[in-house]
Amino acid sequence: MIDLSKVKNILIVNSRSSERKLTGMVMWGALAVASHYKTAIPGSDVVFLDENNEDNFFEKFKEVLKTRDMVGFSLTSMQIKYTLPLIKYIREYYPNIKVIGGGIHMILFPNEDYGDYFDEIVTGEMPKDHFLHELYPEKVLEVFRKKRAQVISGFNCSYKCTFCVNSVRNCKYESMAPEKICAEIDYLVDKYNPPKIYFRDSGILHSFLDAPDPRSLKFHPKVGSSWEGFALEEVIRSYRARDEETFFWATHNQAELDLLISRGNRKVGFEFKYNSSPRLTRSMQIAFKDLKLSELAVIFPGTDEFPLSPHVKAIGLKKFLSKGLRK
Ligand code: SF4
Repeated sequence: MIDLSKVKNILIVNSRSSERKLTGMVMWGALAVASHYKTAIPGSDVVFLDENNEDNFFEKFKEVLKTRDMVGFSLTSMQIKYTLPLIKYIREYYPNIKVIGGGIHMILFPNEDYGDYFDEIVTGEMPKDHFLHELYPEKVLEVFRKKRAQVISGFNCSYKCTFCVNSVRNCKYESMAPEKICAEIDYLVDKYNPPKIYFRDSGILHSFLDAPDPRSLKFHPKVGSSWEGFALEEVIRSYRARDEETFFWATHNQAELDLLISRGNRKVGFEFKYNSSPRLTRSMQIAFKDLKLSELAVIFPGTDEFPLSPHVKAIGLKKFLSKGLRK
């Protein structure tokens, strides 16, 4: 077992998982591992390299290795193909560097024959309770500055869908501590001054609103905001829209659109109204014209579907999710 008291210079690597890099996305698991080592080992020098978010990843990797005692890889099965060449390079040029492997692949397959690729395999979960901002890749921070900053509220899932890795691992949802979520939101609001905050995790929002059950939520003054955020999240999921395809749009003449999904040449717009009889507004007409939308739907809690104009229709959320628009 590697004596961590003797290891000070650590590199944590998150390799790519496919030919297409997930640039701009936060790799929370690997970032948590890097943050944990940096905090848990006094005086340590920890570098986090995420291949998804580096242009000259291999050059940077080679440069950082010159000063490292240990390199850790956080691995899913899809990352192995891109990781083994990196380990071969370490073994050839820096045989004294210790290599450890952890992550979901090791947790699922602890008894696999890993040959001499690793000096140590970590088969348990590492703490995922904080993320050091100094370790975030620059490309992620660029997205935070220009588009959206993210706060994670929890890991894993307690459901047991048969096809899902979470089910095989028999894991449970692990929430981040509410005070850490609040501190992170405060930090990002101070730093980036965002015009809006979206809660994709409505459970966290309801906890902040002190609305722990459906009855207290129903009569809460923010129930509309909660429903609209929930509906927006469900529409994004039903489209399987990636972060870079989704936008909030607003102009100086007060026109705005709650959700724009832009994919290829096609742009669809959504407004969300917690209201059983939504109406056409001037803002919707401006959005439809200025954005050259293919379709604009007003999503509301009802079950009907009816036109508001030749180009805009109102559709109940349930109906939309079972039917959708043209994708
Ligand atoms: S598919 Fe996986 S992550 Fe999604 S609900 Fe089922 S068990 Fe949870």
